[in-house]
Amino acid sequence: MQLSQEYTPQHTTLPVFENWSPTMAGAEYDGNTWSAVSFSPVAPLTIAPGAMALQFGASVFEGMKARRADVNEAYIFRGDENYQRLCRSARRLCLPYPDPVLFDAALDGIVSNCANWQSPFSSEWLYLRPLIYAMDDHLMPVTSRRALFLLLAAPIRAYRPATFSLRVEQHQHRAAPGGLGAAKTAANYAHQFQATQAAHSAGYQAVLWLSALDNQTIEEASTMNVFFVVGDTVITPLLSDRVLAGITRQSAISLIRGRGIRVIERNITLEEVMQASQQRKLRELFVTSTALGVRAVDYLQIGERRIATANNPCLSAEIAVELENIQAGRCGSGTSGWLRPVALHREA
Ligand SMILES: *Cc1c(COP(=O)(O)O)cnc(C)c1O
Repeated sequence: MQLSQEYTPQHTTLPVFENWSPTMAGAEYDGNTWSAVSFSPVAPLTIAPGAMALQFGASVFEGMKARRADVNEAYIFRGDENYQRLCRSARRLCLPYPDPVLFDAALDGIVSNCANWQSPFSSEWLYLRPLIYAMDDHLMPVTSRRALFLLLAAPIRAYRPATFSLRVEQHQHRAAPGGLGAAKTAANYAHQFQATQAAHSAGYQAVLWLSALDNQTIEEASTMNVFFVVGDTVITPLLSDRVLAGITRQSAISLIRGRGIRVIERNITLEEVMQASQQRKLRELFVTSTALGVRAVDYLQIGERRIATANNPCLSAEIAVELENIQAGRCGSGTSGWLRPVALHREA
């Protein structure tokens, strides 16, 4: 199947995705041990209708990327970080998780199977989606003994909307102190649909979430971390149990610091951003995520007020290119540890 030329993504902040690659990896936990990893066609699962994952949101996931260097080799970007975060998320939800050997066997098997890069369309980028589902079936929300680990893959292409805007959500909140905000779990997205849908239908690409404590402190965008360039300093919200510790965020911080530019991780309020804008000190707002990379935001909408946030978007554009080059194995002394090469098997 070919990706049709006129394909227009409905969700403009997302990469172009058409379907999963034909093969997935999986392993089952029976309450005591994990099975060996197996590879099978992507097909509907047999799952109890009352499975904890379905009824009570007992599931966690990851999002990671591999980049094809040439016909023989691909690079997995910071997969060890994704593995560590998957384990942290799983522990937060009392889910079992595979050991690193099982995880890497699934990853290598999927990435090295060349067909994955070609189907349903050909791309240099493979998006990888590890998942853990709690499988126990019960009337009540109980800690599941049985779980399923899956690894799905999909070729993706970058989609760059002409403008990219964020709408500040002033009534709903994404995370609470002591809650799940730092875990990559289904439950963190369920309560975002309303605000996100409202933002999309009003013409904005994503939502910017404020702290539930003061409705002022900026936390993150729906599936992205945020950075503000104020004067010659870069500010990004401090990590807490309400902010997802993005791996692209961490990578961007290293790359910006590598240029001798100051990056401060601290709380920043909407008020401070509006003031910086008034004083003409707000130079850039950008977001980071595995799916999007580093992306400049054109404007921020706060109620009736619109703040231009791409007054001089040089830094984010430069970091975006540098990151893509590193992911493609084209540069980066000091960042070589970020890539793990995987041999690609030629199609028979
Ligand atoms: C996945 C995610 C991010 C970005 O993390 P990366 O590791 O950079 O992909 C940011 N915020 C939320 C809520 C996320 O789920």
